[in-house]
Amino acid sequence: AREYVTDYCKRNGLLTLSVFAVVTGCVLGFVLRTFNLSTQAKIYFSFPGELLMRMLKMLILPLITSSLMSGLSAMDTRASGRLGVLTITYYLWTTFIAVIVGIVLVLIIHPGTGQEKDGHHGSTGHVMTSADALLDLIRNMIPSNLIEATFQQVREEIQDKHISLTNTNASLFFLFLGLLLGKMGERGLPLVSVCQCINECVMKIINAAMWYFPFGIVFLVAGKILDMHDPAHLGEKLGMYFITVLAGLFVHGLILLPLFYYFFTRKNPFAYIRGLLQALVIALATSSSSATLPITMKCLLENCGVDRQIARFVLPVGATINMDGTALYEAVAAIFIAQVNEHDLDFGQLVTISITATAASIGAAGIPQAGLVTMVIVLTSVGLPPADISLIVAIDWVLDRFRTMINVLGDALAAGIMAHLCKKDFEKAAAATSAAPSPVN
Ligand code: ASP
Repeated sequence: AREYVTDYCKRNGLLTLSVFAVVTGCVLGFVLRTFNLSTQAKIYFSFPGELLMRMLKMLILPLITSSLMSGLSAMDTRASGRLGVLTITYYLWTTFIAVIVGIVLVLIIHPGTGQEKDGHHGSTGHVMTSADALLDLIRNMIPSNLIEATFQQVREEIQDKHISLTNTNASLFFLFLGLLLGKMGERGLPLVSVCQCINECVMKIINAAMWYFPFGIVFLVAGKILDMHDPAHLGEKLGMYFITVLAGLFVHGLILLPLFYYFFTRKNPFAYIRGLLQALVIALATSSSSATLPITMKCLLENCGVDRQIARFVLPVGATINMDGTALYEAVAAIFIAQVNEHDLDFGQLVTISITATAASIGAAGIPQAGLVTMVIVLTSVGLPPADISLIVAIDWVLDRFRTMINVLGDALAAGIMAHLCKKDFEKAAAATSAAPSPVN
């Protein structure tokens, strides 16, 4: 019992420290802005935060590969098939609902109409059509270099009105590898045990690194604030757009997703979300759902009691394809840009936006501001100039943090729902396995 109490205090102590770190980082950032630090000083100052990001990113490749391979290889084919179908269906469905929430709110609030002039109207000059963007999305699912694909950053060249989509992901490959390993039986065992070992080690590294996080967060957040462009130029429209996205994220993340969780599991969603707070703070601080993945995994296993096998599948897949926050924001942003351009959208175009925003969020990598880049798919699909992304760039880094929180929340709640829905399958499979021992545990 004493161990439990110490452990409990430790976890909540860390959470409190992390929240405190975000607030301290904001205050410090704004105070230091008044000193007009040199670029060199800013680089030194941001260094502890940079280390935190590097640490988290370093863990992504071993975590995703080992989780997917060891998780899937250990599953009975029928159980994994049902889990896979349910998870993907749930992910697509909730993303689509997020888009609808965004569309309804942006049509009601209408942030893009107002008195002020933006001076951005009618810009043209796009270099990529929506067909190109969709092809790119598919192309990127089959990367030619797996290692590079897992680490790759989005290269965005928003200046010069040229946007390139280069976020590839390697999860699909590891997903198939995991399924194949399961089928191989005894011959696949050595690799499966390697993956299980790596997985355990990664979790141990995370436990050890946890105490560095609050310190890193202070500098990460403060460094970002030091770097941001002067917020004084934000107009009324942009302010309303900001509020619309936040309202949408709030409705989706704190009302609809918890309702779905309750509907499927009949358990208190907020008790479950409380167990995820540490991951949500890290999402807020890093704006990267992939970088948050190790912490989300830790929270699910240790605080929320989600089955290890299910978490190992649902989370990495979710971090790659399920981004409710991003989808919602893409739809709102596209319609906002249309409103600013006084470009009337008919019902068919709204349907197109809902489909392309869903696709664009699937294509976005779980890294900072990836959604801003994949938005070219949504804009071009309804004939809006992708260069107008520049209208929302100034505040995107703030919105990115909130949408990343909802992305992480969506994955984690999905894992809880899947654990509930597929529990019986796994129990049956486990019983069958113990009756006739299989080489893979
Ligand atoms: N930063 C988001 C994430 O990592 C992606 C985005 O919307 O830009 O989940």
